Amino acid sequence: MAADPEQTLVGARDALRKAHRVVALVGESLAAEEGLPDASEDEKTENSVITSLPEQMATIDTFRRDPARLWRWYLWRRQRIAAAPRRTWPEALAELARRIDKLTVITENVDGQHGRIGASSLELHGSLWRTRCTGCGRVRDDARIVLPELPPSCGHCGSLIRPDIVLFGESLDAAMMERAYRSVCAADVFLVLGAGATGEPAASLAGYARENGAVVVEVDAERTPLSDFVTVFVHAEVDRGLDALLAPPAADPG
Ligand SMILES: [Zn+2]
Repeated sequence: MAADPEQTLVGARDALRKAHRVVALVGESLAAEEGLPDASEDEKTENSVITSLPEQMATIDTFRRDPARLWRWYLWRRQRIAAAPRRTWPEALAELARRIDKLTVITENVDGQHGRIGASSLELHGSLWRTRCTGCGRVRDDARIVLPELPPSCGHCGSLIRPDIVLFGESLDAAMMERAYRSVCAADVFLVLGAGATGEPAASLAGYARENGAVVVEVDAERTPLSDFVTVFVHAEVDRGLDALLAPPAADPG
């Protein structure tokens, strides 16, 4: 028998109010590039990498074969995000970060958006705004949209510099995943926010959270493969769903 949605929402609200540790898995629907218009024909003519699909361009093969080409693609993405009207993250998430002892954001987005809400974060796929040296391993912040040389090389050891991003054809960092599982294991509530139908790692993390006693709450505008499996599914856009979850308890009508 299906649970009464109102009752489950009340339960989720209650769990969030009592929670000390919350982990939020943040999906693509909160990404900076979500909803940006497609590149114009002029842009495409000027920069041919734009027409490529991410799964063709953002690969370790492209980096090995033609690192400058891969860099041109990532610089275009930096430029696009920098020029876009700033997307604000749900105020409710910042409010949650203020309210509870510890909020950890886990995300596959590489846009660094989550840095602004005062939560600790685990960027499973890395960041568009960092580079890593393929020689000495130095990691640096880098928000430039134009680089003096392509591909860039390390000022310290002279080796090739790459985006600090997990490319197609590469595995997720095992230590990072370990940290993700550990934070989920310690969570009172695990929020899955706009993760869509991507499947992993949402499903594994959610399963792990439930096994370890967390209340798993999914907020999504569409049902996903996870929706039947979570403790509470909130059928709403992330902003609105989070507002509903953090609203003060309604006065008892009876
Ligand atoms: Zn180096």
